Amino acid sequence: MIADARPDMMQQPDIKSQSLSDLQDQLSGMGEPTYRSQQITDWLYRKHVSNWDQMTNLSQGLREKLSKAFTCHSLELIRHQGTTGSTQKFLWKLSDGSLIENVLIPANPASYGESSKRNTLCLSTQVGCAYGCKFCASGLDGWKRNLTVDEIVDQVISVHRHVSQVERGLSTEHCSEKFETTARCIDNIVVMGMGEPLANYKGLLGALRILNASWGCGIGARRITVSTSGLVPQIRRLAEEPEQFRLAISLHGATDRVRSKIMPINRKYPVSELMDACGYYQQRNGKMITFEYILIKGINDQLDQVKPLADWARKLDAKVNLIPYNHVDGLPWERPDESVQFQFCDGLKKQRIRVTLRREKGHDIDAACGQLRLRTEKTLSS
Ligand code: SAH
Ligand code: SF4
Repeated sequence: MIADARPDMMQQPDIKSQSLSDLQDQLSGMGEPTYRSQQITDWLYRKHVSNWDQMTNLSQGLREKLSKAFTCHSLELIRHQGTTGSTQKFLWKLSDGSLIENVLIPANPASYGESSKRNTLCLSTQVGCAYGCKFCASGLDGWKRNLTVDEIVDQVISVHRHVSQVERGLSTEHCSEKFETTARCIDNIVVMGMGEPLANYKGLLGALRILNASWGCGIGARRITVSTSGLVPQIRRLAEEPEQFRLAISLHGATDRVRSKIMPINRKYPVSELMDACGYYQQRNGKMITFEYILIKGINDQLDQVKPLADWARKLDAKVNLIPYNHVDGLPWERPDESVQFQFCDGLKKQRIRVTLRREKGHDIDAACGQLRLRTEKTLSS
């Protein structure tokens, strides 16, 4: 049993897993001119269609040939929370029945911990997670499989399609005839949903290249942030890729004593090794790294963490994003009182570190990673 990919993947690849040059090769093998590949990518990434029949400028014969060579899957919306202009959460069913989720954070002066003019979509890269951080909902049921390239790309397309249909006042069933290219509703990507992105390196990079490409979703590399719990070899590998994606590190503890208590990965790659890899990334890439630091009551919110955290941030010229812990059903952790959050933040400011304290907006709709899936799976199985 191959757990590294969707079960049907061995038979036919999905069209949304193909780079432009792969697609051109396939089309020339079918005796088609290369401009067809541009028509297909326009349908997929500009007009966000979900099946071959909607690609009306392709002949019936070509659509048939394409459907024999590729699948054209789309995600099935299981639950949606939130409304236009507020944080929205999407729970999708994949073709093997697995559930994944996305959070769409709207452009807002107070969005995502700092001023943002952009709509940010949070992507998932795996079903579940193997890394078992003690505070996180995504790892509670372990790891099931990696997402394929098209399943990652499809999260952007499906959210875009849903949002533009709602904006045009169309029900999701009665919209197939309207394909005007809408203003881009997703202009920032954070890979901070379910799963450890760097543990699905191939799927992640394949998808990010399509999201980044001018013939794909056209989202600039500096508008794409990959968050990792700290897989040192993959951070070094990512540093050597030609694209300059932004990097966020889920630090959550500035010393091995604190970090190892809540993040098992720290026993394999302790803080100093992780920081060396971050230094390498920063040096190759020149972009500012972000340290994500969830504040968990009585676990990592003591002021003795401020100094070592500030020292690492200063050394790497990193900024710190403090995130009050989001409660997860079944876990004992809590967020500290606001006064403690402010003290911790002020402590870093006094050390002249760039820091934001996220007044996050997803708390009321289970926006911490893996939560909506966890609740839905519990409901379905009870
Ligand atoms: N596996 C990657 C990306 C997914 S987790 C990583 O760990 O970075 C995305 C972010 O959500 C991480 O910073 C993670 O630590 C944080 N997170 C997980 N559970 C949370 C919770 N209950 N409250 C707040 N943030 C949480
Ligand atoms: Fe996995 Fe990231 Fe959650 Fe840790 S925080 S269990 S690495 S998804």
